[in-house]
Amino acid sequence: MSRVYNFSAGPAVLPEEVLKEAQAELLDYNGTGMSVMEMSHRSKAFDEIIQSAEADLRELLNISDDYEVLFLSGSATHQFAQVPMNLMKNRVADYIITGQWSKKAYQEALIYGKANKIASSEDKTFSYIPDCSDLPVSPDADYVYICENNTIYGTKFKKLPNTKGKILVADVSSCFLSEPMDVEKYGVIFGGVQKNVGPAGMSIAIVRKDLITDDVLEGTPTIMKYKTQADAKSLYNTPNCWDIYICGKVFKWLKKMGGLEVMKKHNEDKAKILYDYLDSSKMFKGTVVKEDRSLMNVPFVIGDKDLEAKFIKEAESNGLKSLKGHRTVGGMRASIYNAMPVEGVKALVEFMKKFEEENA
Ligand SMILES: *Cc1c(COP(=O)(O)O)cnc(C)c1O
Repeated sequence: MSRVYNFSAGPAVLPEEVLKEAQAELLDYNGTGMSVMEMSHRSKAFDEIIQSAEADLRELLNISDDYEVLFLSGSATHQFAQVPMNLMKNRVADYIITGQWSKKAYQEALIYGKANKIASSEDKTFSYIPDCSDLPVSPDADYVYICENNTIYGTKFKKLPNTKGKILVADVSSCFLSEPMDVEKYGVIFGGVQKNVGPAGMSIAIVRKDLITDDVLEGTPTIMKYKTQADAKSLYNTPNCWDIYICGKVFKWLKKMGGLEVMKKHNEDKAKILYDYLDSSKMFKGTVVKEDRSLMNVPFVIGDKDLEAKFIKEAESNGLKSLKGHRTVGGMRASIYNAMPVEGVKALVEFMKKFEEENA
C-alpha cells in the first residue's frame, strides 16, 4: 500500500487513523457481527453512533441548546434550496457573491423570491472579499447569505458581514471545523461534509431553533423542512449511516488532536509554509489578496499553460495528487484541509522549489 498526498478540493483527504479504524471495524462493528453499512438506523448500536457524533460536534463547536444539529442526506447544493424554502418568509433575501458557490445559491434563491446581490467580488475574478461593514441590507430581507470560505477561489471571510440585525446564513463546506467559530452569530450554518469532515453524500446543518417551524414556503416537500428532520432527530428517512459514522470518528480525532483552537494553529502553520514560498517565488504566484487568503484552499499560477501542465503532471508522478486548479480558474490549487499532514505541504513546497530551479 502506498498513500499519496491528496490535494483534492473534495472529496478530500481523511485522517489515515480514521480510515484504519473503519477498516478494522468493517466486518464486525463493536461486537455486533455486522458492518455499520448493514445496520438498521433504528438499532441501539447506530443510535449510539449518531448520538455521540452529535455530542462531539456540539463540544467541538460549543453549540448551545438554542441550536439543532441536523445530519441531512444529500449535499451542500441541496441546502441552496432548503435555506430559502425554510427561511424566505417575506420572499426577500440578500446574497454576498464571492464565488461560484454563492452564485449558485443566489440563482437557486431566485426560484423562490427576490434574491438581491448586495455585494460581489466578481469584478476581480473573486480574488478578494468585499468590504461588508456597511452594506445596503434590504429592510425586509429574511436573511443575509455568505459562502464563508471560497473553495474555488481561495478566499475566506476573516470578519463576518454586518447584517444589520438580519439572520446570517453561511455555507461553510470547505472551512467546517478548520478553526473555532462563534455559532451564536449565525442563524444557519451548513456544509457538505466531503471537504473537511467525511465521505460525500451528506450535509450538516446547524440551525437556530426558533427558525425551525412549520411556516415554510408553500409547496416545500416534507423531507426539505428542517422541522421534519429536527423532530425526527435526523432519522425521518434512512440517513447516510456510514457517513455519520465516519464523521463521528473525525470528530473524535479532532478532539484527540486538541480541538479546534489547536487545529487552527496547525492549519495556520501549514498554510504559512505554502504562502511564504509563493510570496518569495519568481515562478509561482498566489491569486488572492493577502488579507483574504484561505487556510484551506490555495490557488496559484505560473502564467504559462504549458509549464502549468508540466508541473501538474510531474507533481502527480511524485505522489502529489489533484493539484489542477478548478476549470474556471486554471492554474493550480492545493487544498490543505485538516487531514493534510504538514509533511504533505512541505513535500509540495520542496517539489515546487525544485521545479522552479529546473525550469527557470
Ligand atoms: C463543494 C462545495 C459545495 C457543493 O457541495 P455538494 O456537496 O457537491 O453540493 C458548496 N459550497 C461550497 C463552499 C463547496 O466547497
